[in-house]
Amino acid sequence: MKIITDKQELQNITKNTTKTVGFVPTMGALHEGHISLIKKAREENELIIVSIFVNPTQFLAGEDFAKYPKRDEADKKICKLAGVDILFMPNITMMYGKDEVTIKAPDIRGFVLDGFKRPGHFDGVLQIVLKLFNLARPTNAYFGRKDAQQVILIKQMVNNLFLPINIVDCPLIRGDNGLALSSRNAYLSQEEKEEALKISQSLQDATKLIVTGNLNITEIKKMMMKTLDGIDVEYIEIVSRELLQMQQIELKNTIILVAVKIGSTRLIDNIWI
Ligand code: AMP
Repeated sequence: MKIITDKQELQNITKNTTKTVGFVPTMGALHEGHISLIKKAREENELIIVSIFVNPTQFLAGEDFAKYPKRDEADKKICKLAGVDILFMPNITMMYGKDEVTIKAPDIRGFVLDGFKRPGHFDGVLQIVLKLFNLARPTNAYFGRKDAQQVILIKQMVNNLFLPINIVDCPLIRGDNGLALSSRNAYLSQEEKEEALKISQSLQDATKLIVTGNLNITEIKKMMMKTLDGIDVEYIEIVSRELLQMQQIELKNTIILVAVKIGSTRLIDNIWI
């Protein structure tokens, strides 16, 4: 595995390769969720590139940019074991200059859910992903459904800007206890981890209700709120896979999304129905 910190060096390789390139962008502190993306990329491509970059432009003032978990040495080992060919680890000045051209998330789908709660977040995500795409020049790029709105907006960017890249959305990976894996889980105390189990529990409860034939969004949200009792809920939303409001649950076209705060840690989770 080659570790590259220089964008020119990466571009020199990707400009000249005739191989299919599978790309997995990450912010590091890798876990089984990230590894599942890398494995899928490994199965479907000849050259695998993973990036680790904690992107400042997607954090709002007061968020956890400065304390975002960093585990470079462990991450390098994980990538090597998972069969990564190139690990790209640039620093901030490598990726950003002064007075940059920016990208704006779309008005409707970029402004709901996390786009509403974290204004500007997706502008930063799309900006860095586009930059990374131009360096990695992937055939296929892999994103997790854990960040549902993110993968939907990236697909839209690829469509709108005619980028010759196939976006692959991959299943959300959970721990044995149901908690969605996230680098941010590292912030949680033992007690908070137990509290956080209510999040996946609420999504399971919703699924059970739907399986029994209840497609009423208000009732499902109400029941989820009950399961999440005692937790600071930012939102529970039930929307279509286009992120639009619906009258009732539509099978194979619904996403239920939850965002909560546990202590000072913000966690998101979702289920695709
Ligand atoms: P991050 O490092 O959190 O920016 O995530 C990098 C990529 O890994 C994104 O496409 C995420 O959606 C994906 N990812 C993070 N956690 C999970 C998970 N639990 N299951 C599946 N994909 C995940």
